[in-house]
Amino acid sequence: MLKIAYSEIYKYRLPDGHRFPMEKYELLPEQLIYEGTVRESNFFTPDPLEEDEILLTHTQEYLEKLNRLELSRKEERNIGFPVRKDLVDRGKVIAKGTYDCALFAMNYGIAMNIAGGTHHAYAHKGEGFCVFNDMAIASKLLLKRKQLKKILFIDLDVHQGNGNAHIFKNDERVFTFSMHGANNYPLRKEVSDLDIGVPDKINDTAYLALLYKHIPRLIQEQEPDIVFYQAGVDILASDKLGRLSVSLDGCKERDRIVMTECKRNKIPLVVSMGGGYSHKISDIIEAHANTYREAQYIFF
Ligand SMILES: [Zn+2]
Repeated sequence: MLKIAYSEIYKYRLPDGHRFPMEKYELLPEQLIYEGTVRESNFFTPDPLEEDEILLTHTQEYLEKLNRLELSRKEERNIGFPVRKDLVDRGKVIAKGTYDCALFAMNYGIAMNIAGGTHHAYAHKGEGFCVFNDMAIASKLLLKRKQLKKILFIDLDVHQGNGNAHIFKNDERVFTFSMHGANNYPLRKEVSDLDIGVPDKINDTAYLALLYKHIPRLIQEQEPDIVFYQAGVDILASDKLGRLSVSLDGCKERDRIVMTECKRNKIPLVVSMGGGYSHKISDIIEAHANTYREAQYIFF
């Protein structure tokens, strides 16, 4: 069964005209149920993480600043959302959802979070719409609890997974792979275990060739016990921020490559949502929905 983490808290209230398409967290589950890709029973509502679970990844100072709503104006601006208590609570639920997904993936092969992929969050700060780093938190918990030993991050959002790279830079248990726009945010990139910066306007053929070259090889070489996949859809040609020229079909094939390789090698797969800023919300929803359609098709 495809288990999907979701909570009403995911859709955070933003000021009118904010550029983040927050409504996707509501529209995507609606679309998936409407079209019959999933049912209500596929969804589960995560609890918020406990403080000590967060502190395996984030600094006490940062967590306290969030809990007390005492971020500086600059820190809040770097996150990109107004920081209220429900944003902090939301982050704790999303990250728990990703951890829960890891446990489900070990049983069912795959599990997915309707939010998350907050790969710009560092141990000591948030940025780029990311408060807590859900995939890092889930990884640290799994390792601490000895639920597994080796983790592979496949981060295919158009933006580099700079928070992931920084958090795990000296940790051989976690291999961070990020393929992203070379000329995109963050301008000062961190060093992942493997970074591939792709040029502006890259098309489906060239983009997918890189994945066919690297994904099977990485899975063979790293032999991970689990894969965390950041499936951002800001690689689309229609994306306002992406700068690439990948089509909806190309984006779907990208998902298929990752899923097929994990399935073939019997490696549990956790999918976090990632970014997506196409002009039309329907393009964003269609691309994210494709990830779920592929998961159902390949795994169940
Ligand atoms: Zn992104």
